[in-house]
Amino acid sequence: MHALEDLDVAGKVVIVRVDFNVPLADDESGNRIITDPGRIEAALPTLDYLRDQGARVLLIAHLGRPKGSVDPSLSLAPVAEALSQYLGTVVDLAADIDQARTLLERVSPGEMVLLENIRFDPRETSKDPLERAALAGELAELGDIYVSDGFGVVHREQASVTDIARLLPSAAGRLVQRESEVFGSLLGDPARPYVVVLGGSKVSDKLSVIGNLIPRVDRLLIGGGMAFTFLAAQGYSVGDSLLESDQIPVVEGFLEQAERRGIEVALPVDVVVADRFAADAQVRVVPAVAIPDGWMGLDIGPATAKRYAERIAAAGTVVWNGPMGVFEMTPFASGTRTVAEAMAAAPGMTVVGGGDSAAAIRTLGIEESAIDHISTGGGASLEFLEGKELPGLTVLEDSA
Ligand code: ADP
Ligand code: MG
Repeated sequence: MHALEDLDVAGKVVIVRVDFNVPLADDESGNRIITDPGRIEAALPTLDYLRDQGARVLLIAHLGRPKGSVDPSLSLAPVAEALSQYLGTVVDLAADIDQARTLLERVSPGEMVLLENIRFDPRETSKDPLERAALAGELAELGDIYVSDGFGVVHREQASVTDIARLLPSAAGRLVQRESEVFGSLLGDPARPYVVVLGGSKVSDKLSVIGNLIPRVDRLLIGGGMAFTFLAAQGYSVGDSLLESDQIPVVEGFLEQAERRGIEVALPVDVVVADRFAADAQVRVVPAVAIPDGWMGLDIGPATAKRYAERIAAAGTVVWNGPMGVFEMTPFASGTRTVAEAMAAAPGMTVVGGGDSAAAIRTLGIEESAIDHISTGGGASLEFLEGKELPGLTVLEDSA
């Protein structure tokens, strides 16, 4: 895999795939605002380098899931504005490939153009390799060199991620390089005990991850919404908590597999339950084996959080993906806070993956520099940890 430094970019047009898939919200006056600019900041080392080298840069990114047609609410305009502020120079937003070509002819070395949400074009995510290749060909014609720096998308076979890398001299950007190094070291020979903390809401997504992690880790600590499918698999009633009943047999399989291998799968011993999904709901702490009917578990309880913090402190390596509770609401943020603080204080190697987990670290005011690595890639980081091949990295390995 080439590093940025291996390519001569001065005066060239460099196409950079970045991950600007940031969370957006409407402010009081109805403007789209970026609630967590972490992914934009993560791209800056590569962009600063290219600027210093005098490259002309075309940035390609996606936002949300526009399903292959133009959706103004998913425009990258707020990103272009934020980026202009970070870089201290105007970054123009090109509505389409033609406009990008025109703008690139005008920019000076060191200046950048951002192409509008690439997923407005259905070919970007098409399953048909010919359709993707057609888009990749149009994009490649705009530049001389391709740099892959959107770690959050390297697990995807997509026109601006893989197909374009086959058409131009290609290199990994600073972010992709750093992420690959960190996750590569976790796959190789992580310091033991190797502990993975899993939470969040995407229960079925992450259940498949667990099967692939069991052979690699020493301990799994389970929190968040998925914990309830585990508790249900052990025969406990979970009230109105998140539950994917159809996954219970899968979870039973994991628990057996873990037991055979002597791997601890830690489940909550207590739970913060609420009578409805709201910040001002009635709240109680109950044993995990005694969740009352009509109540829903929205956070791990304090005894669980303490146990998980102890295991994190004792770990050689800890990877954390997925909040322990609905941390966006204060009454359900304690479990996530305790785990995040334990990560920050842990002597072992600490890695956080997952957009919401990274956002939790920032919104809860945890010292980011106390954590060894906060990944920008949720799905990509999990697939890397599972030992799956990531097409966006493989294509860079193969690049001449
Ligand atoms: P990440 O982005 O870090 O991978 P996910 O997207 O999987 O994390 O999940 C994050 C979401 O999970 C958060 O919005 C949080 O509110 C939600 N969540 C965590 N615990 C629960 C729970 N017990 N019930 C419902 N939602 C939960
Ligand atoms: Mg998420």
